[in-house]
Amino acid sequence: MRILILIAIGLLLYIIITHLLRKAKIEDEQARMEKMVRCEQCGLHVSEHEAIQQNHHYFCSTQHLEAFNESK
Ligand SMILES: [Zn+2]
Repeated sequence: MRILILIAIGLLLYIIITHLLRKAKIEDEQARMEKMVRCEQCGLHVSEHEAIQQNHHYFCSTQHLEAFNESK
């Protein structure tokens, strides 16, 4: 009988750990997704740290930043 309780506890721990790992993975992916921004000039999606930001606008390259400024 004792072994069954140990198996049940082990199984429960396994379920909890895999659940937490999966949750952490999903949150990590969501955090990465949120960092994607759209280039105002060509619509290309680039990660926030790679994008060039100006006045809340994002650009994939300095060329597009300049082109956007010239088109205004
Ligand atoms: Zn662009």
